[in-house]
Amino acid sequence: MSSLTPDPSVGASVPVPARHPRLDPLADRYAARTHGMKSSEIRALFSVVSRPEVVSLAGGMPAVTALPLDAVGSMIGELVSGMGAQTLQYGSGQGDPRLRERICDVMALEGITDASPSEVVVTVGSQQGLDLVTRVFVDPGDVILAEAPSYVGALGVFQAAQARVQHVLMDDDGLVPEALEDALIECRARGDKVKFLYTIPNFHNPAGITLSEERRGKVMEIADRYDLLVVEDNPYGLLGFDREPMRALRARESERVIYLGSFSKTFSPGLRVGWVLAPLAVREKLVLATEAQVLCPPSLTQYAVARYLDTQPWQQQIKTFIELYRERRDACLDSLAALMPPGTTWTRPDGGFYVWLKLPRGLDAKLMQPRAVSAHVAYVPGIGFYADGQGKEYMRLSYCYPEPDQIREGVRRLARVVEAELDL
Ligand code: PMP
Repeated sequence: MSSLTPDPSVGASVPVPARHPRLDPLADRYAARTHGMKSSEIRALFSVVSRPEVVSLAGGMPAVTALPLDAVGSMIGELVSGMGAQTLQYGSGQGDPRLRERICDVMALEGITDASPSEVVVTVGSQQGLDLVTRVFVDPGDVILAEAPSYVGALGVFQAAQARVQHVLMDDDGLVPEALEDALIECRARGDKVKFLYTIPNFHNPAGITLSEERRGKVMEIADRYDLLVVEDNPYGLLGFDREPMRALRARESERVIYLGSFSKTFSPGLRVGWVLAPLAVREKLVLATEAQVLCPPSLTQYAVARYLDTQPWQQQIKTFIELYRERRDACLDSLAALMPPGTTWTRPDGGFYVWLKLPRGLDAKLMQPRAVSAHVAYVPGIGFYADGQGKEYMRLSYCYPEPDQIREGVRRLARVVEAELDL
């Protein structure tokens, strides 16, 4: 970590570079957009969660050890020896055509059957997709609507673009359509430029909630009525525990929805391969933006994903991941039910990686964090998942990475910390 990083055992965020001229001689030269940049609550915890004695329920790291590592290793080796220099060369800014075809097959699993490879842009994870879409659409001061809470990495991108994020209420069925409509009416009355709704319909990060079928229709109906663009971020959609994948919002409407996908959760986050599916005119702008940013996505990892989809039993592998995450989810929910003090509430995800927990009696998860770290358990405080300072009584627990026994131990430690906090 850089020298700017304090010891996170005290639970502090990584500070932004000092702006005081005496401390930073370049302070008055930074672009205005750097003032909105800040480290996420999650990255601030990195050095804590890597300590072996700490059970980390903090980071959302996929269980990549469940991959057939030898088979993947030989496959990548054979790619370089078989395809030769092509794998080590620059490629198209839009991404490898074969991979874009296979991406269309993956999206068909969620009902997107009309996508053409020409509408797909391959990205360095869906995180780059978020950045590209924001670059293409958002000017400083524009409004982005997003669920309350919302994905911390998206909020970081929106803040860096100097957007104003207006949160929209969600409940156990996901984004509340009436709240969306109210927000749009409010924005219109204020004369705000609403650029898009950013939504995570499946196994939401951090809330663990899925937008119900009925609400999907309502949200799209409101989007139509208010001429609202929807950015659908869907890295977890294929990781449902109890049912077939739900139909994507993009499957309902192609012109109004920009869809972000990723192989980080269904294959490997380290390969950094994601994609954007967008109407052709938008796709053109996205390719120009990606060329300005990275010239082209990495060739080798694109070929690796395409070859993996062509030659390995990837749907079976997703089932293996699902079984593993289901067991971990159960370990997490069962221990929460057995151990947490009364008044604590939490969501019950039926897919994905996350439980969203509300502390009793207005306890502050951020203030409690140093005590939790001393008790060797880590979580992510809720405030990082809001753009407006809400969420202090919430925390995100990730069950994706630790083994079930570690999860039970982590929840046991956490429950003790919460109890001690209540006794203070
Ligand atoms: N969107 C959401 C909702 C996420 O949870 C994540 C990763 N945690 C991303 C986007 C970015 O994923 P990646 O860049 O690895 O595809």
